[in-house]
Amino acid sequence: MPRPYLQPVYGQGALRPYLRPGCAPATCSLRPCDLLPATCDLSMAEYPELNFCPQCGGPLQDREAYGRVRRYCPACDRIIFRDPKVAAAVLVEKEGRVLLIRRAFGPAKGRWSLPAGFVEYDEDPATTAIRECREETGLEVRLTGLLDIIPGEGPPAEASFTVVYRGEVVGGTLRAGDDARSAEFFPPDELPPLAFASTRRVLERWREEAGV
Ligand SMILES: [Zn+2]
Repeated sequence: MPRPYLQPVYGQGALRPYLRPGCAPATCSLRPCDLLPATCDLSMAEYPELNFCPQCGGPLQDREAYGRVRRYCPACDRIIFRDPKVAAAVLVEKEGRVLLIRRAFGPAKGRWSLPAGFVEYDEDPATTAIRECREETGLEVRLTGLLDIIPGEGPPAEASFTVVYRGEVVGGTLRAGDDARSAEFFPPDELPPLAFASTRRVLERWREEAGV
């Protein structure tokens, strides 16, 4: 369900921010919102539509282009495409157990997920998966294959899609870090509360393969 300050405006179910009274477009596009810090909890994956051109700073308009309504800068005569938010994750197995991290921050704070994070705009998702695993668990992994590509379920708070690899530990010491409160290996029949639909989907598949 859309949150009160997001409403479906564009085609294909995309959401765009509804500006509350007193919330200026300039501040609404910033993260974190410094005007409504108590109520504005848009996650990175919910990053709202741009209101100003990233090239010239001029105000953007809506325009029908390539099959849907998109943001458009009349000064630059440029369509501003909204790109998907991509995450990468790694399923690391050791002696029949899977490596999970407990999230220290929202979204899904306190729940468990695969080591994962958002792909930097100029980064290979495989590099992201290895980097995030190192930052969150202290373990060095070698990727052994591509497991799945999982579409997100939209806001709140998931990536548009997650590239999931398999990996094996090749070094390091298990120690939670970065945005992980703890990092542990779990057997397939004793999984903790899971964070995201993508986490559940990957682990369901892993449990099926493990025959649990
Ligand atoms: Zn412009």
